[in-house]
Amino acid sequence: MVENDAPALELRGVQISYPDGFVAVDGADLELASGEILALLGPSGSGKSTLLRGIAGLERVTAGEIRMRGRAIDAVPVHRRNIGMVFQDGQLFPHRSVGRNIAYGLEGEGRSRQEIRDRVEAMLALVGLEGFGGRSVQTLSGGQAQRVALARSLAREPELLLLDEPLSALDRALRERLADELRRILAETGTSAVHVTHDESEAERIADRTMVIREGRLSAR
Ligand code: ADP
Ligand code: MG
Repeated sequence: MVENDAPALELRGVQISYPDGFVAVDGADLELASGEILALLGPSGSGKSTLLRGIAGLERVTAGEIRMRGRAIDAVPVHRRNIGMVFQDGQLFPHRSVGRNIAYGLEGEGRSRQEIRDRVEAMLALVGLEGFGGRSVQTLSGGQAQRVALARSLAREPELLLLDEPLSALDRALRERLADELRRILAETGTSAVHVTHDESEAERIADRTMVIREGRLSAR
């Protein structure tokens, strides 16, 4: 089947200009194989977040094309792209428990309560937080909060996971440990992922391959 052989993600000449005319991403080409983990390495202000947001559909792509499994997604709305995102500060819902944060994306999809409970338990185990389901997210450490954010984004089995500096707010020792764990989790779930970072050693720990972005231009390493 052509569909299955096609790259998980493909960018051709992607340009993203902001309304003030600033070109934040210029002519980006990339191909991500199914199950591949790509690191996007670049300094602050180089266009990393803009590019991820463009892929997710949160920023308007002003030229070029984005495909997932061979299909152009320009006309597909954000919530239909089946893309998960994790941000630097987790952005958890503060008034939901850990379990209900993870369940968030599973609600309203016609799943039974039991199915949702089982899925939440499986995700907690995956990220090493068994027994944390009932905890308030406000009691979590930074590292635990990022694990919950990861579990929440993986719960729906996204076709593609976009990680925007998810470890940047953590201290170095924890960052290294979580980087290794993140790699294991992505591999275990077979998730295709683009991981944005400004830390070269983190990119190497997590990704199969690294691309560099500088002043909006993407290049192989
Ligand atoms: P990174 O994530 O690599 O730090 P960003 O993608 O956030 O970089 O930003 C890339 C460039 O685009 C920066 O120069 C930033 O100032 C600019 N930029 C970001 N958002 C806007 C906006 N809404 N309007 C104009 N320029 C923007
Ligand atoms: Mg950024």
